[in-house]
Amino acid sequence: MQDKIIPLVDLKKQYLSIKDEIDSAISRIIENSSFILGEEVLSFEEEFASFSQAKYAVGTSSGTAALQLALVGLGVGEGDEVITTPFTFIATTESIFKVGARPVFVDIEEDTYNLDIRKVENAITGKTKAIIPVHLYGHPIDLDPLIKIAKKYKLSIIEDACQAHGALYKGKKVGSIGDAGCFSFYPGKNLGCYGDGGMLVTNNEEIYKKTRMLRDHGRNAKYTHIMHGYNFRLAALQAAILKVKLKYLDGWNNKRRKNAEFYNNKLSDVNTVIKPVEKDYARHIYHLYVIRVKNRDKLKSFLKENDVDSGVHYPIPLHKQPVYADMKLCDKKLPVSEVCSEGVISLPMYAELAEPQIEKICDLVKKFQKG
Ligand SMILES: *Cc1c(COP(=O)(O)O)cnc(C)c1O
Repeated sequence: MQDKIIPLVDLKKQYLSIKDEIDSAISRIIENSSFILGEEVLSFEEEFASFSQAKYAVGTSSGTAALQLALVGLGVGEGDEVITTPFTFIATTESIFKVGARPVFVDIEEDTYNLDIRKVENAITGKTKAIIPVHLYGHPIDLDPLIKIAKKYKLSIIEDACQAHGALYKGKKVGSIGDAGCFSFYPGKNLGCYGDGGMLVTNNEEIYKKTRMLRDHGRNAKYTHIMHGYNFRLAALQAAILKVKLKYLDGWNNKRRKNAEFYNNKLSDVNTVIKPVEKDYARHIYHLYVIRVKNRDKLKSFLKENDVDSGVHYPIPLHKQPVYADMKLCDKKLPVSEVCSEGVISLPMYAELAEPQIEKICDLVKKFQKG
């Protein structure tokens, strides 16, 4: 009866649709037995740079590693402050702490759930070095006004594009617009591998050269290490899988957009449900389809009872996380993040999701809202 359940994301279905190509890519790598970096990673880096409209790309072991490399590459370190959103996955701030800096949280916008740019300037201090905007759920943040602020105060911008592979800001690919952009290939992302993986993209040659060495033990030749580096490499096996999948990404993203439109139409007459928006400057790629409701937890259980999985991204804003409890990270309230964290629920979203399934989900949401 497994088929009866509608999952949040269906990785198996996607694999079966490209099984032959994936299987032969995996065998090719095993036959060659060249597993670390090499031609496979290099060629995928070139393809991903070109896809992202960036000059350079550096494959990494995860999105978190890419964020950490970007910070180090841009010279952010001990004692520095980095402005970011509390309404994101914890990897965004983890990377900031790992380099010895501290996150400074700025509240979010209620409609896009992205950092509220109007509140950024107030948070800048003499210690601020960078801003990490997150293109949350696949909806780009309004980058132009943010870049204007960054220029005025000489701050770097690192785009956390881990949920936004292929999303457009004013017609340009996100990730390549700031000083560096970071992507995750965690399996459930719009472009996901079969394990962990990530990518840093940039147009800055210096950052490229530095982060390329940093991710591979700081070496500039096989046995010469010129900086304190990391083992943050992308595996060749993952690069081979990603190369197959990259060709399909635009098509999959288009299908997600169609599914989002179908959801929006089906839910258009339920005014107790806050639906996702797409701003004029944005092409949303719906990594997640997130609505906001009252009684979120009850709706989640009701869907589950009716064989529909859902998610919550995110139930606890980062400034409320136990790990940061004693750090006095944030002495002011961040009311929008707090309200949103109580109401958001992510409904199933993936390219292979079919309209009758969306219809079923929307009927359940409506029934719940009425009853
Ligand atoms: C997934 C994700 C990351 C981290 O990526 P990993 O590859 O899991 O390390 C960082 N930021 C955001 C917003 C994410 O969604």
